[in-house]
Amino acid sequence: MEKIKYVPIKTLFEKAEEYIGKKVDVKGWVRSRRGNKYVQFVALNDGSTIKSLQIVFDLAKFSDDDLKDITTGSSIHVQGQLVESQGKGQTIEVQAEELEVYGTSDPETYPLQKKGHSLEFLREKAHLRPRTNTFAAVLRIRHALAYAIHKFFNDKGFYYFHTPLITASDCEGAGAQFQVTTLPLNDLPTDKAGNIDYSKDFFGKMASLTVSGQLEGELGATALGCIYTFGPTFRAENSNTPRHLSEFWMIEPEMAFYEIEDNMDLAEEFIKYCINYALEHCKDDIEFLAEHFDKELPARLKFVVDNDFVRLPYSEGIKILEQSGKKFEFPVYWGVDLASEHERYLVEDHFKKPVILTDYPKEIKAFYMKLNEDGKTVRAMDVLFPKIGEIIGGSQREENFDKLRTRMEELGLEGMEWYLDTRRFGTVPHSGFGLGFERLVLFVTGMQNIRDVIPFPRYPKNCEY
Ligand code: ATP
Ligand code: MN
Repeated sequence: MEKIKYVPIKTLFEKAEEYIGKKVDVKGWVRSRRGNKYVQFVALNDGSTIKSLQIVFDLAKFSDDDLKDITTGSSIHVQGQLVESQGKGQTIEVQAEELEVYGTSDPETYPLQKKGHSLEFLREKAHLRPRTNTFAAVLRIRHALAYAIHKFFNDKGFYYFHTPLITASDCEGAGAQFQVTTLPLNDLPTDKAGNIDYSKDFFGKMASLTVSGQLEGELGATALGCIYTFGPTFRAENSNTPRHLSEFWMIEPEMAFYEIEDNMDLAEEFIKYCINYALEHCKDDIEFLAEHFDKELPARLKFVVDNDFVRLPYSEGIKILEQSGKKFEFPVYWGVDLASEHERYLVEDHFKKPVILTDYPKEIKAFYMKLNEDGKTVRAMDVLFPKIGEIIGGSQREENFDKLRTRMEELGLEGMEWYLDTRRFGTVPHSGFGLGFERLVLFVTGMQNIRDVIPFPRYPKNCEY
C-alpha cells in the first residue's frame, strides 16, 4: 500500500471538506457488514468517535474471497477515496481501493456478535466491552470529565497534590480498609501475647489501602493554600449497590481559608463546570446514550447546570421527610444517617433540584468536621443529586486544636500527632470535599450501574482482569 498519513476517523468527519476527493488511509475494527452481490458496506470504527465510517467495497473490484475475513470484530486497513455519501444516515464514505486484513475474528466465537447485548452480559465480558458503542461512549465521556477536572482546578490556581495509596492511618473512618501485607498468611509471626507481630511486616506496622486522601490533603492545603487530589481509593465494604465500588476514583479539593459557604460555592461551580464541559465536548456520545438508554438525559444535565442548588440544614430536611407522608423502607428521625431513598425523595420529589444538605448531627459524621455553636451539629455538606443520591461529601474542618483533640479522644483515635500538627502550628480555617468520580460519570452518562462506568470494576467477589 501507498504511504498515506493515517488520520483518526473522528478527524475525517470533523474536517470532511478537507479530505473529500482525496485518497485516505483508515484503520479500525469492523462493527458490521451488509450488502448484495454488487456491493458490500462495512461499518468501520477506530474508537476515536461514536461514528463508524462506511467503507464501500465494489464487487467488480474485490472478489468474495478478498472480503471473506471481513467479519464483525475483525481489524482492517483500507485505502480509498473519501466521498460524500449517497446513502442516508451518513455524510461521508470511503470507496475502497486497497484492503489489508490485520486480524480475523471468528464469527462463531466472538462474544460481541449481536447488537443489543444486555449490560449484564457485557459486564461478564468486561475485557471486550470497550469495543461496543455504549462502553466506548462512556469511556470517552469519562476521559473528558477527568480532563475537565484537572482543567477546572488548574485554571483556579489549585495544585494537584499526590496523597499515598498505602497508608498506616486507619482513622479516616470513611470505610473498611483492605490490608496490605507481605506476612505469610499461613504462618503469621506473633508476639508473646499471641497477637500478630506487625513489626515483622513490610512497613514495620499494619498498613492498608487508603479510603480517602483527605487527611494528607489537609497537610497540602495548610502549606500550598488550595490543593486537590485525584486518585484511586479503596473500600472493603460489602455493599452490593449500583452506586458502590470497592475501588473507585475520588477528587478531594482542600482549601485553606475557605469556610463552609465558600466550600458549597466551589462544589456547585465545580460540578456544573464538569457537566457543561461534557455537554460541550461529548455531544455525539451523550446523544447516543440518550437515544439508546435514557431519553431524558440531556434535559437532566441542562437542568442541573441551569439551576441553583437548594441549600438546606439537615434538621429542615428531616422535617420535610417526616411531613412527607411517604412510607420509607428505613425510618426517618433526627439523628438518622440518611439512606439513598431519603436523599432522592428530597431531590427528586420535593425540591426537584440538586440539594446541598448541611449541619448534620456530629454522631453520624467524621471526627474532623467543625462543631457548630449548638454543640450538636457539624459543618458538613453533602451534595445530593437526582438518580444518584450523595455525589459529594464535605465539610469545614475543625481548626481548633483543643476541640479536635477532645473529639479524637472521645472516639479513641490515637497515633495521629502528624495530623494534629496542622492545628498545633499555624492553624487556619479550612474546608474541603470529596467527589466520587464514578458517581459523576454515572450521572453524566445516565447509566444505571456504577460497574458500567469504570473499565474494570472491582466489587465483592469480582476481581477479573
Ligand atoms: P455513601 O453514603 O454513598 O456510601 P460515603 O458517605 O461513604 O458515601 P464519603 O466517605 O463521603 O462517602 O466519600 C466521598 C464521595 O465518594 C461520596 O460522596 C461518593 O460520591 C463517593 N463514594 C463513596 N463511597 C463510594 C464507593 N464505594 N464507590 C463509589 N463512590 C463512592
Ligand atoms: Mn459522605
